[in-house]
Amino acid sequence: MEELLRRSEKLTTVGQLAAGVAHEIRNPLTTLRGFLQLQQESNKLNHRHLDLMLSELDRINLIVGEFLILAKPQAVHFQERDIRFILGDVISLLDSQAHLHGVEFVLHASSDSAMVHCEENQLKQVFINVLKNGMEAMPNGGSIHIKLKVNEQANRVRIEIKDEGIGIPEEMMAKLGEPFFTNKESGTGLGLMVSQRIIQSHKGMMDIKSAMNRGTTVIIELPASEVQTQLQEADPSAEEQQPD
Ligand code: ADP
Ligand code: MG
Repeated sequence: MEELLRRSEKLTTVGQLAAGVAHEIRNPLTTLRGFLQLQQESNKLNHRHLDLMLSELDRINLIVGEFLILAKPQAVHFQERDIRFILGDVISLLDSQAHLHGVEFVLHASSDSAMVHCEENQLKQVFINVLKNGMEAMPNGGSIHIKLKVNEQANRVRIEIKDEGIGIPEEMMAKLGEPFFTNKESGTGLGLMVSQRIIQSHKGMMDIKSAMNRGTTVIIELPASEVQTQLQEADPSAEEQQPD
């Protein structure tokens, strides 16, 4: 797990990121320019060209969008939030899309509350990225189990997101978290890197375990907030050990 953290730190210095973004955006821009030039010189743009231009524009928008998530000022928006509700919101957001792909989300929450001091929209983005990756790894559908636990001794909230997808080959594990690393035709390869950065800024950790053709589990741990500790002290029954 330290490995993923270290790698994302090493590879995401501002200069490297900027170079990567510039490169990724220049390709679709070149295509767009070519088509516009074709139109100017010979008035030959057809529907297929226009469709391509739109999808190239969408791609630029997607890449810029992923970076904006990181660029947003954070400190001001940190609030006490219950992770159960954040997960619930994200699940409802993605539910219809999942349904179309034959994927169902199953949430297991073994705690009455799971308060975290966080930037809600950023954490939502992390869960969206991870759940989408899970869905995309299950072309034939299946279940994604989302387990939420509060470790009271360690004051940590733990979220495990387990899919039944294609898995990640051993040799690819070393590349996860590198910006622009993707094996998807329309992927940006930014989701995990951005998620990793967000979890780091919340003083948490993120780890990925995978078995080929069996599935992938993403583990995220975040510090529980003081409010959570106070809630536990006020309700001794909540301190009973939860079975694993
Ligand atoms: P993208 O989804 O745009 O490709 P990500 O950073 O989200 O970018 O993921 C990078 C790569 O990691 C993916 O292209 C995929 O190969 C691999 N990956 C991530 N999550 C999973 C998963 N749950 N199952 C299988 N492969 C995954
Ligand atoms: Mg992704």
